[in-house]
Amino acid sequence: MKSALITGANKGIGFETAKQLLQKGFYVYIGSRDLKNGLEAVQKLNAEGFNTVEAVQLDVTDDNSVKNAREAIGKKTDRLDVLINNAGINGGAPYTALDAETEQFMAAFNTNVFGVARVTKAFIALLRKSAEPRIVNVSTSVGSLYLQSNPNWLAYDFGKYAVYGSSKAAMNMYTVHLAYELRDTAFKINAVCPGYTKTDFTNHNGGEIEAAGKRIIKYALIGQNGPTGKFFSEETNPETGEIPW
Ligand code: NAP
Repeated sequence: MKSALITGANKGIGFETAKQLLQKGFYVYIGSRDLKNGLEAVQKLNAEGFNTVEAVQLDVTDDNSVKNAREAIGKKTDRLDVLINNAGINGGAPYTALDAETEQFMAAFNTNVFGVARVTKAFIALLRKSAEPRIVNVSTSVGSLYLQSNPNWLAYDFGKYAVYGSSKAAMNMYTVHLAYELRDTAFKINAVCPGYTKTDFTNHNGGEIEAAGKRIIKYALIGQNGPTGKFFSEETNPETGEIPW
């Protein structure tokens, strides 16, 4: 049975992604910074008939939490097939380049960039044991430097993404480097935008969460001939899904 760890899977897109991987027969570790919320998420999944799932306390900004989660999962399995770096925040208002305080940038980068690097480094040895390891870094089209600098881009004048977009652009660059470093291995590592989706993150505006989960698991399940080191947003490019960094 293949296994997956999803950060921030107690709710929102992470929770939906967990459900969809369970439907595909995975064993899923629900990363949750508040274990209570993770346990409640597991209960909900159990009530829907999914039993190959457990919660693990995991705050991506906390070295000790990540270390403990790695130890706990390492006791249960000697291999991890999929890592989905999903946990993310917008950093909090104010959001624009000039109005935002350093604290907003630091908070967003701490979770969205350093958190991804911290968790990936901690779990890479377990992922290396998989025959088909996959990493999906959950990104956003508003983290594309190419799109955001285009006056015709739909979010061009959305100044509220200065903090969040900067952090996701940095995470994108991390993804490029990670894919490069693992280019001669079986790893497939991509950045994927789930699309504007109804969750707490968007005050429940946007598209259906099932579509977001589907977009993410596509790259968690991608075959050996699939892409690596690419950026996908099906919402932006419904034809091939690929978008410029
Ligand atoms: P959400 O409903 O707010 O869920 C965010 C998840 O991340 C929650 O489980 C949250 O945990 C967790 N999290 C935040 N900080 C964390 C930390 N330090 N350690 C561990 N977990 C942490 O948001 P969502 O819409 O599902 O977003 C999921 C991902 O999709 C994010 O990376 C976001 O940037 C991306 N995204 C979302 C949209 C959209 O329209 N919704 C669009 C593009 C990209 P708590 O419950 O403890 O807060």
